[in-house]
Amino acid sequence: MDFSCVEGCSKCCVDREYYPSIEFGKIGVLIMPEEKHRIESLAKRHSVKAVILPRIGTSKKNDGPENIIAYQLMGIEPNGNTCPFLDTAGNERSPNGGYKCKIYEERPLACRAYPLLESSPPTLDAKCKFCETCSYVDGNIQSETESLIKIKERTYTEERYVWRYATGIGDSAYLEQIKTGWFLI
Ligand code: SF4
Ligand code: SF4
Repeated sequence: MDFSCVEGCSKCCVDREYYPSIEFGKIGVLIMPEEKHRIESLAKRHSVKAVILPRIGTSKKNDGPENIIAYQLMGIEPNGNTCPFLDTAGNERSPNGGYKCKIYEERPLACRAYPLLESSPPTLDAKCKFCETCSYVDGNIQSETESLIKIKERTYTEERYVWRYATGIGDSAYLEQIKTGWFLI
């Protein structure tokens, strides 16, 4: 079945998940190092407050990350939800009738790849609303596939140590459990 966004849906621009567990806090939109400056410039141009935290670091020794190979664009709500570029106040809508992305033509690779998690065989994120009614997709995912392949190539590392940044952000009920800072994974 061909992939297409569900009418009126903006779920992937709003909902943020705890990953890999509640202790690491909610994650943001994956941002490649080469995208960071561009996204910060877009935020300035659109008068949007964009908080970009590190996400994955690598190192040769186990005493802390030396290189950051991925960042993340955090949501604007206290609990970590809602991308700062999602226009929830305006009247304009995206082609599927959801809220409009203020930077759609220049959105990050991760947004271009979503909801594809694996390209062979094509595997969608079960949290995407499309998956509520369809568990199999084999069409209309060419640009998502190309973006996913780029992300995988750019986040590939042979460094011995890989670190994940705990964001410290999440629902108030979990704040005591959520950590902040780098952890070896
Ligand atoms: S990718 Fe999925 S979750 Fe995102 S807007 Fe489309 S249908 Fe909704
Ligand atoms: S940059 Fe645009 S497409 Fe990506 S999460 Fe934000 S609003 Fe959605």
